[in-house]
Amino acid sequence: MSQFEGQNIVDFLKVFPDDESCLVYLGDLKWKDGFQCVKCGHQSGCQRKDHGYFCYRCKHIESPTAGTLFHKVRFGLRKAFCIAFEMSTSSKGISSIQMGKRYGIRQGTAWFFMQKVRKAMESSQKWPLCELVHVDEFVVGGQEEGKKGRSYNTQKTKVIVGVELNQKRGIKRVYAQVIDDYSSKSFTPFFEQHISKDAKIVTDKWRGYTPLKKQYNIDQIPSNKGKNFKELHLIIHQIKSWIRTIPTHASKFHMKKYLDEFSYRINRSQFKQTIFHKIIERMVKHKPVYQYQIIQNLSV
Ligand SMILES: [Zn+2]
Repeated sequence: MSQFEGQNIVDFLKVFPDDESCLVYLGDLKWKDGFQCVKCGHQSGCQRKDHGYFCYRCKHIESPTAGTLFHKVRFGLRKAFCIAFEMSTSSKGISSIQMGKRYGIRQGTAWFFMQKVRKAMESSQKWPLCELVHVDEFVVGGQEEGKKGRSYNTQKTKVIVGVELNQKRGIKRVYAQVIDDYSSKSFTPFFEQHISKDAKIVTDKWRGYTPLKKQYNIDQIPSNKGKNFKELHLIIHQIKSWIRTIPTHASKFHMKKYLDEFSYRINRSQFKQTIFHKIIERMVKHKPVYQYQIIQNLSV
């Protein structure tokens, strides 16, 4: 198969003129290393004209979308591909209201599908931030306020963010996670999942970081009103404006998904040529997610 590359929407629409071309693309991805029947595990069969795979042993016909995040997409695969394309290639966030209007589907339908795309954007946790990493926390939602003395306003969602910097202090990668409070206990899962033990970590003087020094190489320096953490504050600013583009459901409950989406796109900004293909690949590998699971925010 040839994988789609680039960010050109005209090329994209030429390669995917209809639902069928998308189905073929999914099938090629799903069975690129050969077929294995989901029902009985048998490995021989043939692909039918409708692009489903027919198992010679149990006669089950498997659709390219079965068992993937495209399972039961009812508004058409081409629209689904377009939404994934826009989400992975545009640099600004697009709300589900806007997306719904653009593709003639209900806002709710757009929102559910976008949550599935975000699901595929979740970090694999295989590549923790390393080298020089700056870490800080901030709040999103509600009114803006200065950071003095940390906010304990429960209306807002608290977030911890880590930024990996290169030698010229350029931003390489970013991870962010929702936290309950500013204690070292709440910081710990973020460190474990997203920061390498070998990283040289810099934070401000907040005492919540001090206990983590036992396991991590942390240097605490004065923030100097943010001057010592310029790159970090640029990212925090971007995350806040990003969240503002998502007026519906930008609740604490679903914040994780938006943060995952933000990080995914920043971390792959140097690989924009293949970003669409990669997201489709992840969506094919990921097991289906159902609406009730998204509503209840179950981890799947
Ligand atoms: Zn079978």
